[in-house]
Amino acid sequence: MKILILPGDGIGPEIVNESIKILDTLEIKFELEKALVGGAAFEKFGNPLPESTLKLAKEADAILFGAVGNWKYDNLDRELRPEQAILGLRKNLNLFANFRPAILFPELVNSSSLKSEIVSGLNILIIRELNGDIYFGKPKGKRLSPDGAFKGYKEAFDTMRYSEPEIRRISHVAFKAARKRKKVLTSVDKSNVLETFQFWKEIVEDVHKEYQDVKLEHMYVDNAAMQLIRSPKNFDVLLTGNMFGDILSDAASMLTGSIGMLPSASLDINSKGLFEPCHGSAPDIAGKNIANPLATILSISMMMKYTFNLIEESERIEKAVKKVLANGFRTKDISEGNSVTIGTIEMAKMVIKEMK
Ligand code: NAD
Repeated sequence: MKILILPGDGIGPEIVNESIKILDTLEIKFELEKALVGGAAFEKFGNPLPESTLKLAKEADAILFGAVGNWKYDNLDRELRPEQAILGLRKNLNLFANFRPAILFPELVNSSSLKSEIVSGLNILIIRELNGDIYFGKPKGKRLSPDGAFKGYKEAFDTMRYSEPEIRRISHVAFKAARKRKKVLTSVDKSNVLETFQFWKEIVEDVHKEYQDVKLEHMYVDNAAMQLIRSPKNFDVLLTGNMFGDILSDAASMLTGSIGMLPSASLDINSKGLFEPCHGSAPDIAGKNIANPLATILSISMMMKYTFNLIEESERIEKAVKKVLANGFRTKDISEGNSVTIGTIEMAKMVIKEMK
């Protein structure tokens, strides 16, 4: 069981180093490798995703990824920016299925941006397609506008596209996940305006024929954004394309109290996966021992469950996190009233103590 550790930039190394201690506490013989990625890799190799890192990523069964990025790289050519590393890993490893659970721990109900009666008990799963859509669609670039009212002026363009197999494989993943939960799947689209998402809707409906025990609903993305804030508990599993999922899952994160609480898994067809917190590298708080490591720790819990099928270990981590929160310990981002504010290192220590 090989795990590649990619700490990355900003708070990445802090939260990952603490989370590795959780892995050690499981007392399972994992083979761990560490490599540079993002800005850290750019500084050393002039490439945010060096060949050596990609090779190790291909050889590993699972990857624990911190976060990448820093504003100081904003003026680099796009392909040299740290964020390209994460896109490159997703694409090269065929990690097409992104699982983003948004679960509100009862102890954090006051940290949510919504009223407790609207969010308490929230437990939804966003399944986002990760390899296609406008983020990867070609052609893209800059040119002189070839037509229209602004013909001859400079313009930039991207291409939104989805092939039938891409929609089919993510739909199967989503229906299977829905089957294990409340058997309700909401497919998010913009079929009223976009050809790509009209096609998306047709294919999702076709795949649905194999999952008649799951109730399928369709919702336009603008309405889905509104419903997530209005009555999020009406959802169970949401299926989205790459861009809509990116936006909706960040909105969902705030319902759970802090983006520092949200783990994610990005899986290939064989459940090999990259596990990472949903947040970025948070350069504003890096090096201060205040970052919340729980999203990364919960990402390890997802790794145990989805890649290694170690359900007991996955639950052991999750239960320990719940216990620490129930005991009133919080990092700064989720601290409130009577809670005790502790740092990144202390939070990991508390989780380990509960695991033991
Ligand atoms: P961010 O998620 O890094 O930070 C947003 C806000 O949330 C900040 O105020 C930050 O302090 C806070 N925050 C984030 N994680 C936290 C944690 N664990 N504990 C406590 N507070 C936390 O987003 P940003 O500021 O827009 O982006 C910063 C950099 O991260 C950029 O370079 C961006 O491109 C990159 N980024 C990387 C990833 C990734 O690696 N997957 C994802 C998103 C953004």
